[in-house]
Order: sequence, then structure tokens, then C-alpha cells
Amino acid sequence: MRFGAHVSSSGGISNAIDRGQAIGCESLQVFTHNPRTWKPINHKPEEIAAFREKAADAGMGPLVSHGLYLMNLGAPDREVPTGPPAKGKTRNIYRSSIESLTQHLEIGEALGLEGIVLHVGSSKGSTTDEAITRIGAGIAEALDAVPGTCGIYLENTAGAGDTIGRTFEQLRAVADAAGHPDRVGFCLDTQHMFASGFPIHEDGGIDRVLADFDDVVGLDRLKCLHLNDSKTEFGSNRDRHENLGDGLIGEDGFRRILGHPALQGLPVILEVPGSGEGPDSDNMQRARRLHEEGLALRS
Ligand SMILES: [Zn+2]
Ligand SMILES: [Zn+2]
Repeated sequence: MRFGAHVSSSGGISNAIDRGQAIGCESLQVFTHNPRTWKPINHKPEEIAAFREKAADAGMGPLVSHGLYLMNLGAPDREVPTGPPAKGKTRNIYRSSIESLTQHLEIGEALGLEGIVLHVGSSKGSTTDEAITRIGAGIAEALDAVPGTCGIYLENTAGAGDTIGRTFEQLRAVADAAGHPDRVGFCLDTQHMFASGFPIHEDGGIDRVLADFDDVVGLDRLKCLHLNDSKTEFGSNRDRHENLGDGLIGEDGFRRILGHPALQGLPVILEVPGSGEGPDSDNMQRARRLHEEGLALRS
């Protein structure tokens, strides 16, 4: 396992490598976009070069980004109001999402990222099947626009509202609609699985869940694990991350998960709150300890 974390890239994206190193990361996840706006960041060529150089020097990888939360490829392909009706402002969320995903791939290629973790989207009043068709077409359009090796990793959701990607069948259907099997992979988030009612914390649970994932999707397409404990109950469908061992998945749950043989080659990215500023060295140490203990339990 390559333990890493989502770290801030403020002040220049190459700073993310320093922040990752400071807390003991071997792999890393960053935002390449400002989370609050559609407008992309104009990363300076020297920042991009510094990012690549520092990552190579530190031996840090795989490197991934997390897609802008504003993107929703499940949204209907039409203009919708984006503010008070009196202002008359509209946006086509679907087209904006494809444009943003294309920009994510471009900067991903420039930075040497292995993939972009993407929340699949929500159906916004259309049927799930219609949304899945749109999402697949949108992903294919972005991948066609940016040839290269940077992939898109579809992430399972906590299952709130009309979000797509709460079941392995839905994730598989989106991937089939997108095509490009060489560049479309998957990211599983432990908190989202727990919240969606996958019993990954129980004795033998992760083994059953991953056997099911292998049947429906294929373990060879699992490219990334998000390692988060849960503030909210099993099956709650709520997306609330907790520090490792302090939540309802708990230390026993993480020992079972981290010991699983099929997960050993993956980048494992923490998106935990830490003491308020995100993943810290304490959580990184907990992850590595629980991994060692999990491996020992299975040997
Ligand atoms: Zn996640
Ligand atoms: Zn989450």
C-alpha cells in the first residue's frame, strides 16, 4: 500500500508535495481547481515543473486529483437558472462539467497525475438510466479531447439523495457507458461504503464486499482507496468523515480492511479531518499501524 492524503495546494501546487512529505505521505491527492469556482486555476509552467520535480525527488506516487465538486455529469443538458430569477443568469451544468473535466485531464497530464477521482453525479430529476447515459457520454467526450494516460476514477458515493454510484452495478454501468476501459477505473471510499450499507467493518465483511466488486466490476480496475472513518451510522447515507479509529468503522474494522490481500498494491488516500486542518501525521501513523496489525491478523 502507498499511504497518502488529500493535501492543500494553496500558494502553488508544488507546495502540496512539501505538505505531503511533512506528514509522511508516499502518494498524494490534490485539487487542481479552486473548489468554489468553475474558473480553472492558471498553473504557471514553473509551478508545474516544480511539482513534477519535487514528486520525483520524493519518490511520491501515485499522484491523483479530486474533481471539482461543482461538476455534475448527471445534470440534464440544458440551461438552468444559477441565481435569483431577476438576474436571469443561467448555466448548462452538464456542458460546464464536461469542460471542467477536460481541463482536469489537461492539467492532470501536465502534472503527471495517474488519475482524477470523480464523483459520478446525480440525476437531477431525470431517470437513473438517462443520467448514466449522459455521464458516460460526458466522460468519453473529455477523454477523447485529451489523449494521454491520465485516467478517471469513478468514486462510490455515500448514497445521499439522487446520487449515482452507490452500488457496484451503477458504477459498472457508468464505466460501460463511458467506454475507454484503459482510462476509466474506480476509487472506493471506506466511509461512503459504510454509509451506503456495505458491511466492510464486520468480520469477513470486506472479503464479501470485494468479492462482489470483483464479480460486478473487476478488482483489476480498482485504482485507489479513500481511507476514512465514519462519523455517521452504518447505512446512514451521509458523507461525514472521521479520523481513523475514532469513528464507527473503528480500529477493528480498519484492521480487517487494510489486511485484505486485494488492496495491497493501491494508493490509500486519507481525507480525514485531523485536528481541523485535514489529514495529519497522527492519522498517517494510525493507518500504517492498522495496516501492519491487519496483515498480522491474516497471516
Ligand atoms: Zn473520498
Ligand atoms: Zn466523502
